[in-house]
Amino acid sequence: MTSDAASPRIDPTAEVVDLCRDLLRIDTTNTGDNDTSVGERRAAEYVAEKLAEVGVESVLHESAPGRANVVARIPGTDPSRGALLVHGHLDVVPADADEWSVHPLSGELRDGYLWGRGAIDMKDFDAMVLAVVRHWQRTGVRPPRDIVLAYTADEEAGSDYGARFLVDNHRGLFDGCTEAIGEVGGFSYSVNDSQRLYLIETAEKGIDWLRLHAKGRPGHGSMVHDDNAVTALAEAVARIGRHRFPVVVTDTVRAFLTEVSDLLGIELDPEDPETAIAKLGPIANLIGATIRNTANPTRLSAGYKDNVIPGRATATIDCRSLPGQSELLERQLRELVGPDIAIEYIQRQPALETTFDGDLVEAMSAALRAEDPGARPVPYMLSGGTDAKAFSQLGIRCFGFAPLKLPADLNFSALFHGIDERVPVDGLQFGVRVLDRFLRTC
Ligand SMILES: [Zn+2]
Repeated sequence: MTSDAASPRIDPTAEVVDLCRDLLRIDTTNTGDNDTSVGERRAAEYVAEKLAEVGVESVLHESAPGRANVVARIPGTDPSRGALLVHGHLDVVPADADEWSVHPLSGELRDGYLWGRGAIDMKDFDAMVLAVVRHWQRTGVRPPRDIVLAYTADEEAGSDYGARFLVDNHRGLFDGCTEAIGEVGGFSYSVNDSQRLYLIETAEKGIDWLRLHAKGRPGHGSMVHDDNAVTALAEAVARIGRHRFPVVVTDTVRAFLTEVSDLLGIELDPEDPETAIAKLGPIANLIGATIRNTANPTRLSAGYKDNVIPGRATATIDCRSLPGQSELLERQLRELVGPDIAIEYIQRQPALETTFDGDLVEAMSAALRAEDPGARPVPYMLSGGTDAKAFSQLGIRCFGFAPLKLPADLNFSALFHGIDERVPVDGLQFGVRVLDRFLRTC
């Protein structure tokens, strides 16, 4: 333990900026390919070192060379209570430096923001948790319940080398964990100067990635030909791409819309939630994707020569299903593509949904209100997927709660995987205060 790191005078809201910047400067780009995804181990070692400096022992779990996860357990004062899992991924999606105003690995402090790939997804939260835990260790704070910290690899490419690896091979690490917090929730959306919604993630859509296979008769491109795999595939892809699946309002989305329409004074027609959603400004996209199943064609592949009709053609479709709708979506897709196109699932992970109630939700809401008297916590459904999908397989009740207070004019959702990803420094510091309070009282 170095004397610097152990000094009780270190302010966690100041330290979080340094921790986050250090993490941003470690390149943890996840390309989806083990040969080119190299920085996760360095980031994991960094986290382990920052924990060790204040006396927290952690273990590195490598799933493949360079792909590392770090897990630590901080004992609570009441061992009879279930443990809380706090998880954050260390990998980031690629960034093209030419498109950015600053270098994506710079961790530059500019205009009140910390800039860099991962600034909000999700090295910000990784740093906040580290700052809180280091502060506790320095000042002798012990949480009421065990806290399991998990910093994972590979979230951005399906979690096979991260959360999924840990769940499949080291599930004992999570013994006793009943609830979890991680991304993507706890961020603010300004209603007006004095009121902010804080969107707490209580549900996630399912991931249903599939490949369509069309078969036809190979032939010469100069001939009359009526059994062309490319044509058949293109027709099926176009039908899916243009299809609008019916609106289904789940409990989570209904709770969200009821609260929001009340606050904004928007009339909510249960038969037509889209009109109300359209009035939500920058979060309209986020919420709009959670009232129906979606299916977006993302890849096409066929042929090898300009004048040869191939015998096969394939397309990838990125589908996202509402809770309990994966099988229905499969039937809907079969109907759309017709009998001659084969459907192969390449990724199928169930949707999640829990209720917005109980002690943990109370503790989150109270911590937000204590730091922002204008806070209105609301549940919402994420249209994407997170490591929560893997951890929920252990029966853990998962929430997205990585608190951030955001400027009213910031288009937060556009920053995820976006250009000029950045986190407001005061928002980051707010997050540390909320987490500190929440983790002491949950
Ligand atoms: Zn993320």
